[in-house]
Amino acid sequence: MSDPSGAKKPAEPSLLCPSAPAGEGAIVLGVVRSDGTVGYLGERLPVTAEFLDRLRSGPAPEARFRFGAPCRESACAQWSDGGCGLPGGLAALVPPEETPDALPRCSIRRQCRWFHQRGVSACRICPLVMTREAGVPAVGAGPHGRSEQQR
Ligand code: SF4
Repeated sequence: MSDPSGAKKPAEPSLLCPSAPAGEGAIVLGVVRSDGTVGYLGERLPVTAEFLDRLRSGPAPEARFRFGAPCRESACAQWSDGGCGLPGGLAALVPPEETPDALPRCSIRRQCRWFHQRGVSACRICPLVMTREAGVPAVGAGPHGRSEQQR
């Protein structure tokens, strides 16, 4: 709908996927701990080519870190009914009594796609999410599913 005053509305800041594949332009959101939960970085750490080079050997980067990147919306296999299907799907899998009370101190909350859709309930599940399990091949795996094959 157009603004009757004719004034242009400021563009909404683009939302970030909090479980994105590793790649240049992404940021490191957190580190996967030995117990599989995520420890968040308080500040956004840009992913560089050098960082990706260092991650070439060993388990998939997404099994060791969580990355944030601009939400691809309908270009992502997880997009359904006008939103990301993951936070709702994860909420159905994890009983609330198994989620931590304290919210992670993450660096992207104001821009996070999952927080935007589900508020703090997404944040309580978020530390339990690993983007890709160690040893799982890149193609077709992880929350981006088919869309990863196109990268
Ligand atoms: S769901 Fe919450 S904790 Fe996870 S990245 Fe988004 S804002 Fe941060």
